Amino acid sequence: MKVDELPVDERLKRVIKERGIEELYPPQAEALKSGVLEGRNLVLAIPTASGKTLVSEIVMVDKLLREGGKAVYLVPLKALAEEKYREFKEWESLGLRVAATTGDYDSTDDWLGKYDIIVATAEKFDSLLRHGARWIRDVKLVVADEVHLIGSYDRGATLEMILTHMLGRAQILALSATVGNAEELAEWLDAALVMSEWRPVQLRKGVFHTGTLIWEDGTVERYPENWYSLVTDAVKRGKGALVFVNTRRSAEKEALALSKLVSSHLTKPEKRALENLASQLEDNPTSEKLKKALVGGVAFHHAGLSRTERTLIEDAFREGLIKVITATPTLSAGVNLPSFRVVIRDTKRYAGFGWTDIPVLEIQQMMGRAGRPKYDKYGEAIIVARTDEPGKLMERYIRGKPEKLFSMLANEQAFRSQILALITNFGVKSFSELVHFLERTFYAHQRKDLSSLEYKAKDVVYFLVENEFIDLDLEGKFQALPFGKRTSQLYIDPLTAKKFKDAFPALEKNPNPFGIFQLIASTPDMATLTARRREMEDYLDLAYELEDKLYASIPYYEDSRFQGFLGQVKTAKVLLDWINEVPETRIYETYNIDPGDLYRLLELADWLMYSLIELYKLFDPKEDILQYLRDLHLRLRHGVREELLELVRLPNIGRKRARALYNAGFRSVEDIVRAKPAELLRVEGIGAKILDGIYRHLGIEKSVSVQERPKKRGTLEDFLK
Ligand code: ADP
Repeated sequence: MKVDELPVDERLKRVIKERGIEELYPPQAEALKSGVLEGRNLVLAIPTASGKTLVSEIVMVDKLLREGGKAVYLVPLKALAEEKYREFKEWESLGLRVAATTGDYDSTDDWLGKYDIIVATAEKFDSLLRHGARWIRDVKLVVADEVHLIGSYDRGATLEMILTHMLGRAQILALSATVGNAEELAEWLDAALVMSEWRPVQLRKGVFHTGTLIWEDGTVERYPENWYSLVTDAVKRGKGALVFVNTRRSAEKEALALSKLVSSHLTKPEKRALENLASQLEDNPTSEKLKKALVGGVAFHHAGLSRTERTLIEDAFREGLIKVITATPTLSAGVNLPSFRVVIRDTKRYAGFGWTDIPVLEIQQMMGRAGRPKYDKYGEAIIVARTDEPGKLMERYIRGKPEKLFSMLANEQAFRSQILALITNFGVKSFSELVHFLERTFYAHQRKDLSSLEYKAKDVVYFLVENEFIDLDLEGKFQALPFGKRTSQLYIDPLTAKKFKDAFPALEKNPNPFGIFQLIASTPDMATLTARRREMEDYLDLAYELEDKLYASIPYYEDSRFQGFLGQVKTAKVLLDWINEVPETRIYETYNIDPGDLYRLLELADWLMYSLIELYKLFDPKEDILQYLRDLHLRLRHGVREELLELVRLPNIGRKRARALYNAGFRSVEDIVRAKPAELLRVEGIGAKILDGIYRHLGIEKSVSVQERPKKRGTLEDFLK
């Protein structure tokens, strides 16, 4: 089907053709003929990179131009929200306004009212629904990207609830990887189903076992015994490779090993460019390893990297400067990063109690990364047989069908939180209304029988009544209590809220960072660290040393909570170091964590600290305690000691600049007001732009004069002039 033949707005076609797309891919054409352009719901289950995004863009833009209103595009990760936002920005040329929203779960984001296409993470949109943002009434279309995540243990319930809420209120376009029961999903959503295995670039799949590569069609190729040869072979042919492994440490180890082999295939200019790239990284133990790998044209990619490092690597790989990436599976679900060859080193991973097979769905998504449209005629995905028989792997992962999706609504933590939201934010007034709502979920559609879920729901309702989140009147009608309503809006687990509430009396008597951080770390919403065996004694000692600061008692060794508790102590200690200005690098080394881990820990702690304060306000708060908590929150946000609190309130002044100012003798806003610009500019990290910002913020007329601005370094051309 030609783009010109599409029954959509002419302007839309023009923009697509300007991208160089004249002809639609077959599954795209099928999708657009399914009735989706006339408002029908659609489940589109096709492989990665076969053009789902374009279909959704056509549906969104055509609908918006025709009917007005808003379209919401849901993604599973913040990084994806940014990627989609940048892609959709192009539609602003047709007068549509595009926005992305991800953070801050306690807001209605009224500003979004002005936008037409809104990209949001599922969690963020769920929180907006709970806040009853007014603009949600105008949402005419919801696109759910990666909808197969409905089957993921920790994220699934959120997505399922959002779709249940929006079903019937807005058109739904669900984009999915190939799954075992797409029909079931489509039936639930009362949607047309378009399913296809078609790919823009052909995919060859094979299994590698000690030097023998057996392709799907039976042809055999010989290689040196070690699977590294699959990677070096791709590089020799002027192509790249993506290697999937099951742990971060393996990703690092293999990157270093491959780097030595790949390096001999690099040209001099490439080596120089890679060295230049490596020099852009910050100094910390993770980047040290990354730098070593990078100079050989290889990088590792995992959740421990910082956002900047990840983007840097992804861009350099797309440009072809980095030849090989070794990655944990997080990459396969994330950004668009195709490669000629994909090598899957592991098909098992460690999950809590032992090794489990990685699901077919995930392995197929990794394999789907092979083949770069426009560059490769075909892509190659190769599974390395290390522990399993090659034949078994071929049957399971290459010839086999992906798993079915199962509703994760019954996951206790998610369910507790969703039931509370239904009662406090969505006007569910009685148990029968609650059941009535649950009848519309994917869970109900799939299981046909709600009795066990009803049973669980009753338990949750008891818990919520007992802990004063909600009340029951004499007729059995639910009443939302302020504690419940606020908990739901703050988007935290009711169990977290209960822990906070229970700790308030002890906290009032003895407010202190260690106690508060351990409390935060003990909640189910925190990504609490685990204490390793050899660290356990140290953290137990620390807990005893600081026992009088804790709001919880130290469990006995036999107690099942013992190990978890030591992890909480460890987490609290990391946060304590952070607010005592221990340099990041020392934190990474001491606790053996990566920059990405610290970032996530701080992000979560920040949100939980905020929630703790918001909940405390409901219980007859003492002004001095409230102030204490607010100061601690600010220290946590910036990672500073108390003496820097005044300075970090200034714009663009974080822990490093504030410390530099303080040490240079500028200890308060008053000091800064009094100082001459030239004096301040001598402080490390304080440039003219920053200073202008501070003056503007303080409403001071003083401006940084031209003479005081640091001179730009002259170029050779200037010199010769
Ligand atoms: P998906 O969302 O399914 O992973 P994308 O929509 O990101 O895939 O598409 C992958 C790439 O293919 C994009 O660069 C996109 O511009 C391009 N593409 C999509 N549809 C077509 C088409 N009909 N013709 C040519 N290129 C296309």
